[in-house]
Amino acid sequence: MSSNRTLMILPGDGVGPEVVSETLRVVDWLAKNKTVSFNIKEGLVGGASYDKYGTPLTDETLADSMDADAILFGSVGGPKYDGVDFENRPENGLLRLRKEMDLFANLRPAMVFPSLVDASSLKPDIISGLDILILRELTGGIYFAQPRGIEEISDGIKKGYDTNLYTTPEIERIGRVAFDLAKARNGKVTSVEKANVMMSGVLWREVMTKLHKEEGVGIDMHHMYADNCAMQLVKEPKQFDVIVTDNLFGDILSDCAAMLTGSLGMLPSASLGSVDKVTGKRFALYEPVHGSAPDIAGKGLANPLAELLSFSMMLRYSFDMKDEADLIDKAVSQALDAGPRTADIMAEGREKVGTKGMMDIVIRKLEELTN
Ligand code: NAD
Repeated sequence: MSSNRTLMILPGDGVGPEVVSETLRVVDWLAKNKTVSFNIKEGLVGGASYDKYGTPLTDETLADSMDADAILFGSVGGPKYDGVDFENRPENGLLRLRKEMDLFANLRPAMVFPSLVDASSLKPDIISGLDILILRELTGGIYFAQPRGIEEISDGIKKGYDTNLYTTPEIERIGRVAFDLAKARNGKVTSVEKANVMMSGVLWREVMTKLHKEEGVGIDMHHMYADNCAMQLVKEPKQFDVIVTDNLFGDILSDCAAMLTGSLGMLPSASLGSVDKVTGKRFALYEPVHGSAPDIAGKGLANPLAELLSFSMMLRYSFDMKDEADLIDKAVSQALDAGPRTADIMAEGREKVGTKGMMDIVIRKLEELTN
């Protein structure tokens, strides 16, 4: 079936191709049962691309990715590439995609499915019903800003330094995404920095306060220091709705929030660029939070749900298909209630299934929910 929506599929390495191919079964199911179809293009990225072309991302694959309406990404990397020179490391394929498309907004939901409440290390009453979203600025701040380096300052003594730098437009554009996301959720934004000790934090707070006054009508915005936010995430995570923060704090806080939910195999993410004022198009890449899981790769054991939930985020954020995204999320939730599960989310008395078996259950639930 031809469509005006193009998906670029980049399965990558390790368990990436396994979880992506299972997710494509749901893409097929949607085409057959909901007449929602996509034109699909596929390319190599990471180690798979390096093995064939000597680079983790070719210019052609980059061009195809930029032409597509959204990218579904698996994972890259693995011990096989440990000795590869730095610029050809598999991870650089992903970093180049993020950079070339200026994917500055990284969305990581942390949701607890009712039947996985026991998988969290926190008490059930603290995390049951949890549904929060961490929005991390992805292309600026301390991981990129200059000056940075390691220099010798005197005999045998060196200094290593980085710069945390944000400009007003960089803060404004991530702040606007936070407001947009909160409007579609519970209307609350917590802006996180360390304005008590960092100048970049002082500016962050100043810009977010002004933006809130000018563009945040109906948004309940609070400021919080990053160290307090780390504590609050563990103490009372349900107080949050959308947390917006910089690259460094977002890296740490999103991993912390992720583990509230129990398993890496369940965590989706989206990385978005700006909306082009002329074409209305927004670059977007969807991927599970987990890596290539070399320890289980090739064995058909990986949990495919993080990849599937990334696809569901794509339907929601790139294609405005809320009903289809809700349907998939519901099928996943019911599949988890059903019984068999992959090893990473096993519970006592459940039967163990592999990657395909887990997706069989989701597809069965999709059938049941629509018949
Ligand atoms: P990892 O996420 O690959 O694995 C961590 C642990 O979680 C492993 O025990 C693994 O078996 C398990 N796990 C991961 N995904 C799972 C799934 N879907 N189902 C069940 N269990 C799952 O992290 P790592 O071991 O630190 O890294 C392995 C490789 O992946 C490295 O080369 C790293 O650079 C790369 N990596 C890539 C990405 C990415 O592509 N975005 C992200 C993180 C790590």
